Amino acid sequence: MDSAKSDMRLYSGVAASPGIAVGRMRVIDRRRLGVDEYEVGEAGVSTEIDRLKGAIVRTRDELELLKEQLRTTIGDEHLFFIDTHLLILADERLFAEAAANIESGLINAEGALRRTLHKYREFFAGIDDPYLRERISDVETVIEKILRNMTGEPHAPISHDGGQTIIAAHDLTPADILQMDRGRIIGIVTEIGGRTSHSSILARAFELPAVVGVDGIADPLLSGSPAILDGIGGCVIVNPDRDTFLDYLQRKRHYEYVESELLKSASLPPETLDGHRILLRGNVEIPEEGASVLRHGGEGAGLYRTEMLFMNRPEMPAEEEQYRVYSAMQQAVAPHPLTIRTLDAGGDKLLDGIDLLGEQNPALGMRAIRLALSMPDEFKKQLRAILRVSAGGRVAIMFPMISGLEELRRARALLAEAMGELNDAGHAYDRDIRIGIMIEIPSAVVMADQLAREADFFSVGTNDLIQYSLAIDRTNEHLAAMFQPLHPAVLRSLRRVVETAHEAGIDACICGEMAGDPLYLPVLLGLGFDELSMGATSIPRVKQLLRRCTRERAKEIAEACLGFSTAAEVEIYLKSAITRYFAESFD
Ligand code: PEP
Ligand code: MG
Repeated sequence: MDSAKSDMRLYSGVAASPGIAVGRMRVIDRRRLGVDEYEVGEAGVSTEIDRLKGAIVRTRDELELLKEQLRTTIGDEHLFFIDTHLLILADERLFAEAAANIESGLINAEGALRRTLHKYREFFAGIDDPYLRERISDVETVIEKILRNMTGEPHAPISHDGGQTIIAAHDLTPADILQMDRGRIIGIVTEIGGRTSHSSILARAFELPAVVGVDGIADPLLSGSPAILDGIGGCVIVNPDRDTFLDYLQRKRHYEYVESELLKSASLPPETLDGHRILLRGNVEIPEEGASVLRHGGEGAGLYRTEMLFMNRPEMPAEEEQYRVYSAMQQAVAPHPLTIRTLDAGGDKLLDGIDLLGEQNPALGMRAIRLALSMPDEFKKQLRAILRVSAGGRVAIMFPMISGLEELRRARALLAEAMGELNDAGHAYDRDIRIGIMIEIPSAVVMADQLAREADFFSVGTNDLIQYSLAIDRTNEHLAAMFQPLHPAVLRSLRRVVETAHEAGIDACICGEMAGDPLYLPVLLGLGFDELSMGATSIPRVKQLLRRCTRERAKEIAEACLGFSTAAEVEIYLKSAITRYFAESFD
């Protein structure tokens, strides 16, 4: 790292997976193939359509083969992205559109496919939901594969160059990440993508530092340069000067030291100095994250978001597929329990196959339990799959966005029907399975006393509860400062949820982002929550602080917080209280 100071360049992006990597960049050419469009005349049309068909078949064979290879090395549960690609490939519209381009433009198959991709890009660019918008990368990957099969240029797996390698690319597919030698490849950076893209989720699951959305980082001229990837701050420094290099080495050591110290105590019991124990668990989206939850000291998963399995595909997953994936998740956290949340789609998480009639206000529209209740057969399919998993392990069901008793009763009625169907089919399941509800809507807070009589536990989704209580769109970056977890209305709601749950003798949990932020721990502990569920890597830090608190002190802090009139006052008080009592936990 002896580069001249003037060579140093900072590239900013989005932190997608935490950690710091120091190594050499290897730029992978994942950009599109340079294919020409040319005219073939009437006589050439059928040949071009045959070439297109042949390339699609070869691509399908290639994906099936890859699926087989990966199944033996990494297991079934990771293969959802290949299935996604196979589905895109099987979609008649892709072939029909490209074939129509050949016929109408009298052009070659490559040019026709490029035109098709252009149309898909325009369509996806007009989608508001960032998660869905990013799914264009799956379509691009598939079309690129077809093109490579037409031109005979293979898509080689990514390799390292002997040393500690940071891979930079325009985009990386989940397959790229799964096939990487993760011993030598220590970080990844891409020009496109967001925190919710499949690749980012996999990077986090593998604890591989990653930065995405970095303009210009895939420049081939950068290949071989020394680089630092900062997956915490969200940047990449190419050709760092000596001071920056030393500074980052120090930061990296500090980060790794703190992480390893935290991990050492990850298996200690989650209890306060005065012996009060609560449950700390992980939030998960794919089975691979289960191992990470356990390693970070989580006692199972308190929120399994099942949406991932439903997104980015034209049809709902079959009961068998759901059963397989949920079983894999259950086994990944066994012997600890798993709380499976039923489909929470709609709002900012749209599904391909469902037409929500272009809602003006999707967050207030056909979302979560409302959507599930509107398609009882699909909902029962999911319930049957979850119930079947409960036969082999500790599983609880959780309904999202319950607004009142009527919805809870309708959901429970469908659950009873699903149980009846399993009885008829001779399938086993846990007849005493725990049924919880998420408290995310102010009406549920108001009705909490009645809801508590018909639910086995409450889990507060603070992300949505704050959004709906304060009328602040949780995805609107311009309103981020007004999204206030410490708003007195939010704190009072949390107190009411805990009190009504405990009066009814049921547990009160939190699974929104608030649970994973150490700042809020004394408040949540003091209010009396029984369980906090969070991203796996947050567990050790929260546990460390928990083990330095007393329940009594936390109660005093929570009580004091509830005495203020504004979020700003609460925050000033809380920070100073934490600094006074727990200073050493925030170094
Ligand atoms: C929440 O709303 O806090 C929650 C955990 O659910 P999601 O973020 O999936 O909406
Ligand atoms: Mg929610």
